[in-house]
Amino acid sequence: MRYLDKAALGQFEDWYGDNAAVQCTSCGKVFLVSAVLHRKGRSCPACGRCTAKVTKQMVALTEPTDSTS
Ligand SMILES: [Zn+2]
Repeated sequence: MRYLDKAALGQFEDWYGDNAAVQCTSCGKVFLVSAVLHRKGRSCPACGRCTAKVTKQMVALTEPTDSTS
């Protein structure tokens, strides 16, 4: 599980209000996730292995390795 740091967003990350752009750690795809549209999070549209979720407090990126560790 990774969390975006609003004060130190990566080159392939963005976060504004209820929306964030994250980079899939599995395939490198950058995709949008919205707290409004994706209440249960959104899987990477390219490979489906990573799931990003936006809440009021944080943006979390679940990686495929999370389930095994
Ligand atoms: Zn992916």
